[in-house]
Amino acid sequence: MGFNTAILHNAPNGEPNTGATLPPIYQSSAFQHESAEILERLFENKAAGFSYTRINNPTIEAFEKKITMLEGGISSVACASGMAALTNAFLNILQAGDEIVAAPGLYGGTIDLFRDFEAFGIKTFYAKENTPKAFENQITKRTKLIFAETIGNPKLDVTDIKGLADIAHQYDVPLIIDNTTATPYLVKPLLLGADIVVNSSSKYINGNSDAISGILTDAGTYRWSKEKYPGLSDYIKFGKMAYIAKLRKGLFRNTGACLSPQNAFLNCIGLETLGLRMQRHCTNALALATFLEQLDADITVNYPGLASSPYHELAKSQLHNGYGGIVTFRTGSKERAFQIINSLKLPLIISNVGDTKTLVIHPASTISLYCTEQEKEASGVYDDLIRISVGIEDIEDLKADFENALKGGN
Ligand SMILES: *Cc1c(COP(=O)(O)O)cnc(C)c1O
Repeated sequence: MGFNTAILHNAPNGEPNTGATLPPIYQSSAFQHESAEILERLFENKAAGFSYTRINNPTIEAFEKKITMLEGGISSVACASGMAALTNAFLNILQAGDEIVAAPGLYGGTIDLFRDFEAFGIKTFYAKENTPKAFENQITKRTKLIFAETIGNPKLDVTDIKGLADIAHQYDVPLIIDNTTATPYLVKPLLLGADIVVNSSSKYINGNSDAISGILTDAGTYRWSKEKYPGLSDYIKFGKMAYIAKLRKGLFRNTGACLSPQNAFLNCIGLETLGLRMQRHCTNALALATFLEQLDADITVNYPGLASSPYHELAKSQLHNGYGGIVTFRTGSKERAFQIINSLKLPLIISNVGDTKTLVIHPASTISLYCTEQEKEASGVYDDLIRISVGIEDIEDLKADFENALKGGN
């Protein structure tokens, strides 16, 4: 079954008792039961059902099942934001003294989070470049997980997921991939060997920028040992479900970063057109990147779909259906970058990606403002860089608007 058909027909949809075609919004904090015994069985995990929305809820579960199906995993946990999903994904297996090996040039929020972890005795070491070998160089006996993004934002470096999974498993550590910028439409990291995949569903999955959320999905393939991951020892008996069982019984319910049923519903609606939108984001991004590259010899365009990208060959072999919706270009100076941003008429000046509308931002003065010079360099952020999250508008309108802005605007 193809991607779009699977979204519409291959995961729980609607509500059989009424014939509703979308998952109803169960806007209820808690669920009543007919007897004390039933609720006891629910709490003992001996019966299926719902008790309290911080733990689970039918609308949230419908969203989780759709993403599990799309990413090719065995189970998902939806959270209040992408950052909450990442925090849960990491801390479910880490403890003081552990180390993370991460890709250079991550999403700024994740770099900040890793800095927060230092207060709890968890250290992060960054690979010098985004190659499996460079990750391997940072692995020590204390390394407990490897983390990378499918397409780095805003560097637009592409991770060799299969190569990195091989290295991770050679050292017996799990690989966690942030798939936000690619989405399962372009690649399913779990099928390439990653163990856990995280999506900020605030972006392309939701699609319309009407709800913040995140979700993590487990492949169920990593075999946790109690010596290396003592926190999981009570859960190893659950086999493939060990990681999710620990999360649901522990950190996830105790940190309380649950998704609201309303937002899960909005995601279910957005998800139905994910394939269609991504297809358009990708063709528009490639057309705009190609156009900009030819338009002005003084700017340098970066897009994995262009032959000029050092990641083009890897992107071509690893990504299906396109190269993503994000394009960046260097303009020569911060002044020119600001002039271009201010001259554009269609794109919104916004710190977000994955909206239906085209968005632009000057990363150095906004999302990367508090990064060190070294972190900026590692994430490909320069003072003259503009990031475009290419929307689904008619491409001729976008081209005309960018051409006008690059020629000085009016
Ligand atoms: C936006 C984003 C996040 C954080 O997601 P929120 O939903 O904003 O918390 C994490 N990773 C990447 C790559 C992102 O683009």
